[in-house]
Amino acid sequence: MSTVADKTLEADYLIIGSGAMGMAFADVILAETDASVVMVDRHDNPGGHWNDAYPFVRLHSPSAFYGVSSAPLGHNALDQSGLNKGLHELASAAELCSYYDRLMHQTFLPGGRMRYFPKCDYRGEDRFASLISGAEHRVAVRRKLVDATHTDTQVPSTHPPSFGISAGVDCVPPNALPKLARAHSHYVVLGGGKTGIDACLWLLEHAVAAEAITWIMPRDPWLVDRTHLQPGDGFFEQRVGSMALQMELISQAGSVPHLFRLLEASGQLLRLDPAVEPTMYRCATVTRAELDRLREIEHVVRLGRVRRIQPGRAVLDRGIIDVPHGTLFINCAANGIRQHAALPIFGGDRITLQAVRSCQPCLSAAFIAHLEASIDDEAEKNRLCTPIPYPSEPVDWLRMQLANLSNHYQWTRQPELRQWLANSRLDYNHGRLSAADPTQAAIMERFRRSVGPAVARLREMLAEAAGEHAAAEGAAAS
Ligand SMILES: Cc1cc2nc3c(=O)[nH]c(=O)nc-3n(C[C@H](O)[C@H](O)[C@H](O)COP(=O)(O)OP(=O)(O)OC[C@H]3O[C@@H](n4cnc5c(N)ncnc54)[C@H](O)[C@@H]3O)c2cc1C
Repeated sequence: MSTVADKTLEADYLIIGSGAMGMAFADVILAETDASVVMVDRHDNPGGHWNDAYPFVRLHSPSAFYGVSSAPLGHNALDQSGLNKGLHELASAAELCSYYDRLMHQTFLPGGRMRYFPKCDYRGEDRFASLISGAEHRVAVRRKLVDATHTDTQVPSTHPPSFGISAGVDCVPPNALPKLARAHSHYVVLGGGKTGIDACLWLLEHAVAAEAITWIMPRDPWLVDRTHLQPGDGFFEQRVGSMALQMELISQAGSVPHLFRLLEASGQLLRLDPAVEPTMYRCATVTRAELDRLREIEHVVRLGRVRRIQPGRAVLDRGIIDVPHGTLFINCAANGIRQHAALPIFGGDRITLQAVRSCQPCLSAAFIAHLEASIDDEAEKNRLCTPIPYPSEPVDWLRMQLANLSNHYQWTRQPELRQWLANSRLDYNHGRLSAADPTQAAIMERFRRSVGPAVARLREMLAEAAGEHAAAEGAAAS
């Protein structure tokens, strides 16, 4: 294996990571500048974690505003059947991988300004090495290094379980489910996030009886009703009406718990069991039909995280449960997207891609590329895009709202950025600079009227929550 740099390349941008964010960034940089790009990734194909995903995963937000700015994903169709019926189509993992592969090989590479190095590991200091031949390259970077790995996605097929597994126990990642060749007497789904939800729905849709499923739920999530995240004029009232209502409810809320009661009562947020207070918020979306199916599973175990699984039982943080012999455990407990401290997005000769619109990685990366292409002043670029860390706890819903509103306020004060967003297919409000009819105008007016009081109330509630958190920590320490 070579240990010295075999070859020096030159490029304006070196992008580490060809996942959704790296690809959305590259797409705009190639379209809006004459820059050249070197892109490296450990995977053999673009698309990032979608290459490792379980085959039955689908986006949980519409294809209509996922991917890159220049190429539509899917057909902008509404699903005609299934649990997402009536709502915008959701791309499958296979569709996403094929989309990114086509984009790389039929658009980016033929353009002549992109060089792509799959199966290569970035080693720091503008150097990378092939994981196959060992050949090393150094890149003479003329403009910036772009870190498109900050999301640090962890999925069960690539990350070993964090709990012990005794001999004789069947435990698989969800990737194994479509290959199962025999029925199991019982199924235990480990994890309450999007992957756990998908695994439960997959089992139910394959006619496994709800009684044959145990769902281990370390934390209950607040879920978003997907109906409110639909693009296009046909869903204006659901989408913008929901934004206006959320602003009004925030202004009325007496406290953080009261706000969640209001959001739930108005259908903005959903939970699996009305008797259990959620302690997690991770942007997962569901339809009402999916929620109804999930509620068929009665055996939900809320005893913390799994520590060890053994034949016939599972040991959890706060107890032990017995399960029938022959049970199949399905490990859906990987972290998904990890919570990292925010870094400045523009930092000298480095760009660290992060969300600047909450839970919308594609729009965020494309928008950052547009700022890079159109503004020289680094302080101004950072002022326009405060990073929004991925959420974990319910109170993060408030932090995200505040950060979204403040970024959005900065963006919409600049006509050029307003226009760019209105033209971007990645913005779910795209195409819209003003309301077309009186009903829509009235909804927009409700939003405008309530946004100022909502921002003030969010700041107060977050300060109260921080005070309570500090007091609780002080009490625990004394
Ligand atoms: C199951 C699941 C469903 C999701 N559904 C949605 C959805 O519906 N809508 C939505 O907006 N978001 C969704 N997300 C969030 C999702 O993470 C983002 O949509 C997006 O795919 C993240 O892209 P990324 O480029 O930031 O990260 P990744 O996909 O993780 O890509 C990062 C890439 O960097 C590469 N890399 C890392 N380190 C190195 C190194 N040292 N050298 C070379 N290469 C390196 C990795 O190999 C990887 O290919 C979902 C996430 C999960 C886990």
